[in-house]
Amino acid sequence: MLFVPGTLDPAWGQAARAPKQASAPACDRAEFRLIVDVGHTAESPGATSSRGFMEYDFNLRLAKEIEQKLLEAGFAKTMLLVTEGKGLKGLFKRVLVANRTEADLFLSIHHDSVPSYFMEKWEYEGQELKFSDRFKGHSIFISNNNSDVKASLAFGSLLGKQLKARGLQYTPHYTEAFMKNRRRQLVDADAGVYRYDQLIVLRATRMPAVLLEAGSIINRDEELLLGKPEHRALITAAVSDAVEAYCAARRPLNPHLIARSQRSNPTKSIFRPAAAAQPAKPGAKQ
Ligand SMILES: [Zn+2]
Repeated sequence: MLFVPGTLDPAWGQAARAPKQASAPACDRAEFRLIVDVGHTAESPGATSSRGFMEYDFNLRLAKEIEQKLLEAGFAKTMLLVTEGKGLKGLFKRVLVANRTEADLFLSIHHDSVPSYFMEKWEYEGQELKFSDRFKGHSIFISNNNSDVKASLAFGSLLGKQLKARGLQYTPHYTEAFMKNRRRQLVDADAGVYRYDQLIVLRATRMPAVLLEAGSIINRDEELLLGKPEHRALITAAVSDAVEAYCAARRPLNPHLIARSQRSNPTKSIFRPAAAAQPAKPGAKQ
């Protein structure tokens, strides 16, 4: 497992002890601790794209670009979480690290595929591969078993709205009966936020947590689109603006106290009432 940048606990401890100044900006970017989790591992790389590439590599590339964008925007404690190992072990490992670091927000980056019954065959560069052009678009997931559902939904909604403001559409197909056991409840129909209670990285993380499926790599056109830097720049800008808006709308409390109060009273949200939230405008100055 790798952390970028290095060891964080001591710096975070110091930050938590520093007194808040009355003139502090609504969002203290330098102190906000975001974990950008790279979905899957090199050993268990997730879905295979329509051209035979691994989801893990798409996740790693986009997560690195999101990390870079946030660092440039002044979110100096943004961390890229890369996990090693196979299967479930990797999931619990990343939850363990996230909880130990008491991050403010956990964002897991993934790319989508379809159930096997939608797959068709085609030949690409002499190789027989599977594809499905049936669905396209991103989707956002939260868990009602997370320690702070309200804050998770708040960030998920902010993210969905920022993606929408840049012309990106979420995929509505997760509500359909044909998705069978992958069918999900849409909890924010405007922003494209679904409920996926059982996801380990969403339910076991002791901080607001959101999973982004950035697009479908089993869709032949969308796979190409996700390969374009200008398309990924729209996604990274949306994430950055959503993090900024979320950070500004949180209750301005010492993050370590928040983490402690969350553990003693899991129903208490760190998120202020919706009326107090000021979503950042897309393209607003960072
Ligand atoms: Zn995935």
